[in-house]
Amino acid sequence: MYDVVVIGAGVIGTAVARELMKFDIKVMVLERENDVACGTTKANSAIVHAGYDAPYGTLKGKFNAWGNRIFGEVCETLNVPFKRIGSLVCAFSEEDLATLEALKHNGELLGISNLEIVDQLSLRAMEPNVSDDAVAALYAPTAGITEPWELAIAYMENAMDNGAELKLNFEVKTIEKKCDHYIISDGNTLVEAKYVVNAAGVYADQIYHMVCDVPEFTITPRRGQYFLLDKSAKDHVRRIIFPCPSNKGKGTLVLPTVNGNILIGPDSEDLEISQKEATETTLERLNLVKQLANHLIKDIPFSENITTFSGLRAEPSTDDFIIGFSQVDGFYNIAGMKSPGLSSAPAIGIYVADEISGVLNAARRTRFEPKRSIRIQFEHLNDLQKKALIERNPAYGRVICRCEMITEGEILDAIHRNCGGTTLNGIKRRVRPGAGRCQGGFCGPRVVEILARELGCAMESVCQEGQSSYILVGKTKSL
Ligand SMILES: Cc1cc2nc3c(=O)[nH]c(=O)nc-3n(C[C@H](O)[C@H](O)[C@H](O)COP(=O)(O)OP(=O)(O)OC[C@H]3O[C@@H](n4cnc5c(N)ncnc54)[C@H](O)[C@@H]3O)c2cc1C
Repeated sequence: MYDVVVIGAGVIGTAVARELMKFDIKVMVLERENDVACGTTKANSAIVHAGYDAPYGTLKGKFNAWGNRIFGEVCETLNVPFKRIGSLVCAFSEEDLATLEALKHNGELLGISNLEIVDQLSLRAMEPNVSDDAVAALYAPTAGITEPWELAIAYMENAMDNGAELKLNFEVKTIEKKCDHYIISDGNTLVEAKYVVNAAGVYADQIYHMVCDVPEFTITPRRGQYFLLDKSAKDHVRRIIFPCPSNKGKGTLVLPTVNGNILIGPDSEDLEISQKEATETTLERLNLVKQLANHLIKDIPFSENITTFSGLRAEPSTDDFIIGFSQVDGFYNIAGMKSPGLSSAPAIGIYVADEISGVLNAARRTRFEPKRSIRIQFEHLNDLQKKALIERNPAYGRVICRCEMITEGEILDAIHRNCGGTTLNGIKRRVRPGAGRCQGGFCGPRVVEILARELGCAMESVCQEGQSSYILVGKTKSL
C-alpha cells in the first residue's frame, strides 16, 4: 500500500512527488502516457512569469509570486536551464497605459519588486524591434524562461533517486474508495493508496468524477498555437514581449527560448469540453498568431520557422487554481492549472507536500538528496574538456545530431538515468537531438537505432511519442 498516489506526471504531479520525498512517505506516480511531461507541460510558452497579473487574493497570484521567487534555486539544484531575462508588457493606447498602471499596482500588492513603467525611448533602446506604435511598457526584470518538460523530467528523476516509483502506460480508469484507502485501476492492475493526488491536467475533472458524484468544477480545453523559429532568428527580441492582457489571457507574445530560438504565440481558442486531445495546429489560427505578433514586433523572420505546435490550457469553471483536499476524504485536487501553472509548480509542490505530510503525520526524511546529477552538455565544453571526456568515454566523440551538436554519450545518459527516455521525442526533450533546423531528418534514424540497442528491443518497436506511434514497419526488400 502506498501512502500517496499522484495521478499525472506533468510538471505539477512530478513537483509534488519530489517534494513528498522530503518526508518519510511512500509515493507512486501513475501516468497514462509512455513518458512524463507528455501533456500541457510539453507545449506552452515556457515563461516563469514575474507574477504581477494574477489578481491579488487569488491562488494564481499567491503561487506565481512564490514560485518565481524560488524558481532559480530549484533549477540550479535540479540542473534545469533557467534565465531571468525580464519581460515587457507593451501599451499602444491610453487605455493600455491605464492597464500597465493597474498591473504594476497589483504586482506591488503581491510583493513583486522592481516593476517599472518605461517610456517609448527606453523601450526602443531595450528592444529595437518592438513596434513603432508601442508607446510605453511595464518592465518586470524578474520574469524568466525555462524548459518546462526538462523541469518535470528532473523533478521525477530526483523523486525516483529518493525512492519514489513511477508507473507509465497506466491510464487510471476507476478509483474505488474504501473506508481508509483507495483502489486505483487501469483495468488490469490495481494500486492501493491512503491518499490520492489528482494532477491529471485537462482530465482532472474526469478523475475527480470517479470518486465524486457531483464535482464542483469542470475543465475545458483552451488551445494555443505557436511558431518556433530557428536559432538564426536569435536576438530578434531579447526579453519576453507581451501585448496588454485581455479576459482571454496574456495575449500573443514573442520571446527567446533558453536554447536561442524565437517562440511566437499562443492564440486563445475555446474548444468543446470533449476535445481534450485536440492538439493539432490549423492554418487559420496560425495566421491569426502571425497577424497578432506582427502588430507587436517588426520584421519577424517567419521564413525561419522550423516547427509549429499547440498546447491545451486546463480552463477551470472556477477561473482560479483549485488546490486542496476535496469534499471526498483523502482525495486532493490540483486542477485548473492554466498559466501561470508552470511558474507556480515549485511552490505548489512544496505547499501540497506540507499539507499531505501533515495529515500523514510523516517525519522529514533524514537522507533526502536534493541534487540531480549533472548532465554533460558536450557543446558547452572547451576543447581540452572535450578531449578528456572522449578519452574517458568514446561515445562522447560520436556526434549524432549535427544541428544541435548532440553526442551519443549524451543520448546514452538520457536513456539510462532514472526516468530515462524510451521514445524518439522523449530523447529529443531530454537532450535535443531533432530539436534543430532539420527537426530530426538526419539524426532520427540513428537515435532509433541507439534506443533499440540500449532497450534491447527491435527498431520496429521504438515509438516516436505516444503508445503505438511506431516509426518503422520492417526492413526494406524483406517482403
Ligand atoms: C498555450 C499555453 C501556454 C502556457 N504558457 C505558460 C507559461 O508561459 N508559464 C506558465 O507558468 N504556465 C503556462 N501555461 C500553463 C502550464 O503549461 C500548465 O500550468 C502546466 O503545464 C500544467 O501542468 P500539469 O502537470 O497540471 O498538467 P499536464 O502537463 O497536462 O499533466 C497532466 C498529466 O496527467 C496525465 N493524465 C491525464 N489523465 C490521466 C489518467 N486517467 N491516468 C493517468 N494519467 C493521466 C496526462 O497524460 C498528463 O501527463 C501554459 C499553458 C498553455 C496551454
